[in-house]
Amino acid sequence: MKNNQHGRDSNLHVLKSSVNRHALFGLSISIFAVVVATLANCYFSTGSLSLNGIYAVQKDLPVLWLLDALPFIFLFWGQHVGSVLAYEANTLINDQTDDLKNQTASLEKQVMYEATHDSLTDLPNRILLHDRLDQAINTAIRHKYKVGLILLDLDRFKEVNDTLGHFAGDRLLKQVSLRLTGIVRKSDTLARMGGDEFAILLTHVKSTKDLELFINRITKVMVLPFKLSGMSLDLQASLGVALCPDHGKDVDTLIQRAEVAMYAAKQKRNGYAIYSRNLDRFSPRRLTLMGELRQALQRDELILYYQPQINLLTKTVHQAEALIRWQHPIHGLLSPNEFIQLAERTGLIKELTNWVLNQSINQIFKWQEKNFPMTLAVNISPSCLLNTELPEIIIGSLGSHNLGKSMLTIEITETSIIQDPDLAYEILNRLKKLGADISIDDFGTGYSSMAHLKKLPVSEMKIDKSFVMDMLNNSDDETIVKSIIDLGHNLGLTVVAEGVESIHIAKRLQQLGCDTLQGYHFSKPLPPEEFEAWHAGYADVLISELLD
Ligand code: C2E
Ligand code: CA
Ligand code: CA
Repeated sequence: MKNNQHGRDSNLHVLKSSVNRHALFGLSISIFAVVVATLANCYFSTGSLSLNGIYAVQKDLPVLWLLDALPFIFLFWGQHVGSVLAYEANTLINDQTDDLKNQTASLEKQVMYEATHDSLTDLPNRILLHDRLDQAINTAIRHKYKVGLILLDLDRFKEVNDTLGHFAGDRLLKQVSLRLTGIVRKSDTLARMGGDEFAILLTHVKSTKDLELFINRITKVMVLPFKLSGMSLDLQASLGVALCPDHGKDVDTLIQRAEVAMYAAKQKRNGYAIYSRNLDRFSPRRLTLMGELRQALQRDELILYYQPQINLLTKTVHQAEALIRWQHPIHGLLSPNEFIQLAERTGLIKELTNWVLNQSINQIFKWQEKNFPMTLAVNISPSCLLNTELPEIIIGSLGSHNLGKSMLTIEITETSIIQDPDLAYEILNRLKKLGADISIDDFGTGYSSMAHLKKLPVSEMKIDKSFVMDMLNNSDDETIVKSIIDLGHNLGLTVVAEGVESIHIAKRLQQLGCDTLQGYHFSKPLPPEEFEAWHAGYADVLISELLD
């Protein structure tokens, strides 16, 4: 603000002085004209130049009086026009600055809006709901009233999508959103959580009766048939309800409990259910885990295991893949398949990825200090890759250390790239500049385009284990593995095979020209100390078998 003001003042100053310069120029010319005219008149009328003669012509000639007035006129004109011009120009600059400010503000608003709203229905999305739910919970706890969260999931929506197509499915979702909008109060929030799931946040619930009345209204608007392509469709929905503070006092718990209730309602086919402990049996285990994952991060229950990768060219092991585990106090060691998706759904994946990157980079340096040089590959989910902060997070994790070239490999999937190729391109390039290598994980299972692969700064391809594990019994799998190896090499990439469970598979892959092997035959993923012990005791023996 201060800068703007300062800028405008100096513009004004420049303008004024430019006008003043012109006025001064006019003033000098007019003084010059007065002097020349007076002297000339004096000379012509008296035959010489004298002070008396000058006084006489100045006194007697009205033309000279007019001329005498000119410098004053210029002086006045200069001042006046200078001020007017500068004022007008200043207004113009002000207007333009305001226009620019307005444009920037509306652009910022638009970006913010798009990040927090669902593009199909224009409703708030999961992120905005999280935020509002958090605020509502805090206010409710302070003022001692209740907040209600209703999750609504359409029954058999998939059938509509499959039989009538996605376009019809989208239109149906819009109609549902319009009907629900009609019954939601201004102070409450209707959000689309994704797919056919909606959420309604009731910021002020007096009693369960209140809640049931509202649910009745939902049932009433949903009971009327939906019109789609000239057809009349009956659509049912299952509702799950959770209340704060009764069922939870934080966002994750409340959403998780409402989901449990919604699953119960779906299975019992009774329209809606309000959460209670005995409904927990309806929830898949992952739902109860969801509420606990945030605490797991804080309580240090997550650990990284490391699985070695055997480099067939150098016949050494100098790289491992970092794979996350959850040491759960009740369920024991949990595999990432049980909680990574959950983390993605709740948004916790960002914190989890930060943790994994931090931990991996620390481990690289710990091993370096022990004179045990090992580079690590880290898995990055699509939502995290497309997070423009990722390079900054890595810089942050590096702290004062310097990441040497190729110490860290980022494993991404084809899906991450396809979602937004331009953004992926930009982020991957920045990561590359930081010294990270990029590897395409689970290659062969997703959609990819050769054009993207060629353009991206990728250096490695990992053949998905589903093709490798059975390749000796399934000739189609073997053909796929061989084609991926050839494709990778033609693109100038290193090819890694994962899921190598036997020496026979390892040898076949070696014949096919695969560069790196990873799998249970060599070692399962191990905690760091066991990994070091494996490296010292078994690595060479296993590698020597490949040489026979
Ligand atoms: P992935 O990236 O494909 O990792 C390889 C998985 O295959 C690992 O499972 C590994 O234990 C398993 N595996 C390795 N060799 C063999 C083998 O010879 N046979 C068989 N049957 N399996 C083998 P894990 O550790 O359970 O990880 C599962 C998935 O979870 C990973 O698949 C990865 O997509 C994800 N994941 C693991 N850690 C992280 C992480 O830190 N962040 C993210 N975003 N995802 C992770
Ligand atoms: Ca991987
Ligand atoms: Ca993989």
